[in-house]
Formats: sequence, structure tokens, C-alpha cells
Amino acid sequence: MNRRIVLGCAMFLFTATPFFAQDTSSVVDAIVKEVNENSNLEALGHELMDDIGPRLVGTPQMQQAHDWAVKKFNAWGISAENQEYGTWKAWERGITHVDMVYPRVQSLSATQLAWSPSTSKKGVTAELVTLPNVNNEEEFKKWLPSVKGKFVMIARNEATGRPDDNWKEYATPASFEKMKQERTEQIQAWNENMKNMGHNKRSLIEALENAGAAGIVDSYWSKGFGVNKIFGAGTKKIPTVDIELEHYGMLYRMVEHGDKPQLNIVARSKDLGVAPTYNTVAEIKGSEKPEEYVILSAHFDSWDGGTGATDNGTGVMVMMEAMRVLKKLNPNPKRTIIAGLWGSEEQGLNGSSAFAEDHPEIVNNIQAVFNQDNGTGRVVRINGQGFLHSYDFLSRWLSAVPNDIRKEIETTFPGRPSSGGSDHSSFVTRGAPAFMLSSLSWDYWNYTWHTNRDTYDKIVFDDVRSNAILVAIMAYMASEDEQSVSKERIVLPIDQNTGKPQEWPTPRTAERKGGM
Ligand SMILES: [Zn+2]
Repeated sequence: MNRRIVLGCAMFLFTATPFFAQDTSSVVDAIVKEVNENSNLEALGHELMDDIGPRLVGTPQMQQAHDWAVKKFNAWGISAENQEYGTWKAWERGITHVDMVYPRVQSLSATQLAWSPSTSKKGVTAELVTLPNVNNEEEFKKWLPSVKGKFVMIARNEATGRPDDNWKEYATPASFEKMKQERTEQIQAWNENMKNMGHNKRSLIEALENAGAAGIVDSYWSKGFGVNKIFGAGTKKIPTVDIELEHYGMLYRMVEHGDKPQLNIVARSKDLGVAPTYNTVAEIKGSEKPEEYVILSAHFDSWDGGTGATDNGTGVMVMMEAMRVLKKLNPNPKRTIIAGLWGSEEQGLNGSSAFAEDHPEIVNNIQAVFNQDNGTGRVVRINGQGFLHSYDFLSRWLSAVPNDIRKEIETTFPGRPSSGGSDHSSFVTRGAPAFMLSSLSWDYWNYTWHTNRDTYDKIVFDDVRSNAILVAIMAYMASEDEQSVSKERIVLPIDQNTGKPQEWPTPRTAERKGGM
């Protein structure tokens, strides 16, 4: 076919559509092309997860990540800064190396918990003990002095190291039911025994440390093959390590059989005092309504058993890539577009809460916040967060998103306001229209969320690319919209317990001096 004729037809079609729509479709096409053909996502993922690593609040790696992000934004021509909002205990993870040294030698899969006190270079060698079965507090107190100089195993021995879906697939229905029944009984007996000891987990650890235990050995299985959750230590002087299920179970059986296994635990770390905490805030200034804001939101910090790839490296990559593309293709947006990479979300939404507290002039003039924080999956749910007219503007913006991305997304309007869970709620609770872009799970809760397996290899780049396109288009549509959005809230339903209407959730206060 003749090229000139095709061009002629296209011209005709373009002049027949309104100016805004024509402009929109060409920018949308350019966004899709840029993200698909010139993606920076792989490089961002590698530099953040592999080179910098996990980003626990107060660590030098968190600081490196903030500095890295500012440099990246600047290299794309976007102004950015690290806004200090508080301080946190400063700690740096060192080597963890745990070996069974008696009755035979075996190196174990173990990780010290965040903020664990350091051992010497040689580590600590001691015998392992399990918790006793007791009938009352007196019996526990009688037993307690026997922990002096021993490592104490404080986690239950799991009934099985196979995830339930594996049992469901291969076990006979009768044996699957039997396993679940036995497991339930074991959990009940464990909880009953904790009550008899007169302790919860936190106070138990304190009692063991005060009684002279050499260290705490925990195991927090995450219900999948080879996966444990890694949180913070509760000890002040002795090391706390997590040992993966397979090795923990073996050690537990050895103790129960009277084998008297001994471990050598090397858990090195540095106590660095106190460190400032930051949010990285990047900005593309608006040209017509600079005092109105679109915010691309993702928390920057992580737990540190893995490298924080899906919680929340992928959210950060999406927001950074969207900013890069927006700056390149629409450098003078109508409204100001901000990327907020928040600190210390994991300890209670601290960075985003502090930003909202410190910048009422921004929070009161928000057109929309788009937050992502539940994994690598493509976005499949958006909820109107209780804003009465959210259907009008979110549907208008979504209509510009290519069908292959939009068709995956289930919307709920007007929805209900989030009281917590992730950083969008720091804005929703203050009445600002903020939305969580909820991802497809990809087994997030069991396999990557806060685990030792949250690493680069779990990133699904096709889904992340699709999210970067979605966010860039939604931000573009929100910033260029002729209308400023309505912030009218729904009347919440009656609370069945009180008989009164439920109240809009209240904002959290940022913790500005944490971990001390
Ligand atoms: Zn998260």
C-alpha cells in the first residue's frame, strides 16, 4: 500500500479527535515505547539489590541507597534531595557463620537477626538446649539457671518442612488431614507451655539473657521450601540467630535424643551509635499548577535477611523508572510530580508519616498519590480508598492505559480507606487521595516478604515493566487533568459493635528516634 495514502488517513483521523486526546495518545505511546525499548529497570535492580544490598533503617547501606537514588535522579535531569526527619540506632551487619561442632561437624544455614549484638571473631561455642515442658512459673524459674552458658532454642520444631500446597498435591487426603491435626495440637501445646512459663516471646528472651544464656537460637519458618523470615533481635548483649527449618529441626531432634549438640556461632556486627534517617524526594516542577502535587510513592527501606527485592525494591524501581520516563517525555507537567522513596516503613510507616507531618502544604494539595509495595507482580487491584468520586477520575485516567495492562486490574469504588499496611495510608488518613496499586502475589507472603529469599532472581521484569508503564501513564493523566480531583469522603457504614458510624482512620505519628 502506498505510504502517502496511509499517512493521509492518519492525519484525517487525528484532526477529527479533540486536541487533548490526540496529545494523550501520542504521549502514552511514547511512554510504552520508552519503557519497553529503553528500560533502566534491570540496571536499577542490579545496582540496588546486588551492589547496595538490603536497606535496614540506620545502616550504612540505607544511607548508600539514598545517595545512589539522588545521583540517579540528577543524572536524569531531575532535582532530588535526602530530607532528614529523625534518627535511628545505627548498626551494620557483619559475617554470620554457624557450625555444629559436636557430635559431628556441619555448617548450618543461619542468619543473625537485625541489630544482634556482635560476637568476637572466634565466636561463641556452647551446647544447645530446648525449652522445658512445665506446669507452672515456679517450675520454669527452677529450670532457668540451667541455661547459663548455653544456646537456647526458642522456636517450635515444625511438624513438616513441606509447604501445604505440596502436601495437598501428593499426600492422601487422610494423611494431609492427619498432619494438619497433629500440627494444630503441637501449636496448642506449645502455646499452653508458654503460658505455663509465664512469658511471651519477648519477655522469655529477656529472662534467658538475664539468666546467662550464651545466645538465642530462633527459627521463623515462612511455610515454603528453604524460606525463613528474618526480623530483629531482642537481645542486648548475646547474639540472636535464625537457623533455617531443615537444620533447626535436626538440631532439635538431636537435643531431644540426648546427643548434646554444640554450636559455634560467629555473628559479627558493628554498633555505630546513632544515624540520621531520610526520605529521598525527587521533583519535576509543575508549569501551570506547581502548588498541586502528584506523588509516586514507594518505601525504600527493607528488612535484611534477603536484599529486599520484592519488598520493596520493585516498588522503588517502578517509581524511579516512571520518573525517568516522565522527565524525558513530558518535562513540563501541568502539576508538580514528586517521587517519595520513604525511610523506615517497616518499623511503622515512619518516613511517609514524617513527610506528611512536615509538609502540610503538599498533603493538602494532592491530586493523587500512587503507592506500590506488595511485590513484583503486575497491578491487579485498585481501590477508591473511600473517596466518593474516585470512580470519576481514576476511571478517566485508567482509560488512557493500554488494554493489555488495564484489563488485569480489578477496581473497587468507592472502596474503603486504609488505616495502615503501607505508605498510601499516611496520606489517606490525612484526607489526601492516595491509592495502593496492589500486585499479583507470586507467592509474596510465604516466599519473599521479609524472608531470606527476597532477592533479585524473584523479580519478574515483564510485570515490573508493565507497572512502570501504568504508573507513568497514571501520573501523566493526573498531572495534566483539566480538573483538580474531589476529596469528598464517603460516609462510612455503621459499626456493628457500637451502633455508631465508623470513623475515618487516624494518622500515625512518625517515630523520629527509633531503635535506642
Ligand atoms: Zn513493604
